Amino acid sequence: MTNDSMTRSEFLRQGSGLAVSAVLGGATACRACAATANETKPSAQSPGGCGEVEDGARGFAVRPYQLLCMICSLAETSAPADPKLKAIFEAVRQDPDRPITLSSNAGGVYVYQHPGPQDDTPEGSEFNRKRDLDILQRMNWAPGTTLPARTALNAVLKTIPSAAGICGYSAVTSDAWRGCPKADSGDYEKGAAKGIQAIIPPRTDEEMAGEKETSLRALHSATRVTIRPHILLCAVCQYGGGTRPPLKVDNLPELLDLILHKNPDILITLVQGADWMMCAPCPSRVAKLNACVNVLGSGGLSNEKRDLDMLQKLGLHYGTTMKARELYRLIFEKIPSTQEICKRENPSPSVWWDGCGESNVQQGNQNYEKGRRELMEAMEKLA
Ligand code: SF4
Ligand code: SF4
Repeated sequence: MTNDSMTRSEFLRQGSGLAVSAVLGGATACRACAATANETKPSAQSPGGCGEVEDGARGFAVRPYQLLCMICSLAETSAPADPKLKAIFEAVRQDPDRPITLSSNAGGVYVYQHPGPQDDTPEGSEFNRKRDLDILQRMNWAPGTTLPARTALNAVLKTIPSAAGICGYSAVTSDAWRGCPKADSGDYEKGAAKGIQAIIPPRTDEEMAGEKETSLRALHSATRVTIRPHILLCAVCQYGGGTRPPLKVDNLPELLDLILHKNPDILITLVQGADWMMCAPCPSRVAKLNACVNVLGSGGLSNEKRDLDMLQKLGLHYGTTMKARELYRLIFEKIPSTQEICKRENPSPSVWWDGCGESNVQQGNQNYEKGRRELMEAMEKLA
């Protein structure tokens, strides 16, 4: 078939079809050999392939229902038996933050992301379409949304605890709506109850304890500390709430302790991302991406906005280096409350929602205000 004789949807379908078959069928695609596919759907590439894994080459497309079937298949086993589901499972386990595109056969203006019917299950076209749309609607995402796999799976687990009403219905109105034979088996609910850790293992206690020790040693011998901006505020919230060293999950109390009792003029450089020196032992840190994956995997996004909001408020930029007490003096002068930096009015589910954002809607964090008063007083007394 030439391009001249293809319909628009057929043409687009070939792009996403390549992506699905690449991950599910084991085809390969590095950046060079995927150049043709890139012309139609740049984000949809195979994981792995010829061994060259690059940022732009690690994403792939799935049907939303395939995420549910993968969870369902984990009810009694630790990995899916079905080859397609197993390929998705292994790709996510190998690289949990690789982007996945949730393609569905939605019509109307969403036709551009049609994957086609090739991965439909045998229950019929309307059922397959409705099931995918039911899932996307619960998650509040548009067809064709691309997200880190960790976020997509966490959102599925949070918004869809049961297959009822999605994979099968309480009343079978006709043969076209009989649903999946496993809908009432309880398997999906059992798989979902195992949680995200059944697919994406958490950081181990040993690894985090080792990172705590090494990063603290680095902090105590440093002449210059690197830190992402907004967690300088989190340190104040912790201080106001009474947290003192040692803290297992970050090095912020130890940083304040160093400033207050050993070296008030230690240099602080503001850097991007979940920088190792402060964040090394955090259960939500992904070392290879220097990223934080709290809040269903998407918390790093809201945190990055906080970093940038704070830089704007202070008139600083990434790379700024200041003496610790001068930096805190500026912070306390310009930021009397966390509300302007931390507030989020996006309702959950949203990649912008987080607990701190919600708790700052009515007023700023009271621990910050207390910690700010106490630290201003303590820093005034320093020689
Ligand atoms: S309110 Fe803001 S500054 Fe305080 S802990 Fe939460 S995110 Fe950090
Ligand atoms: S959640 Fe993110 S910013 Fe906070 S300590 Fe963990 S890695 Fe650092």
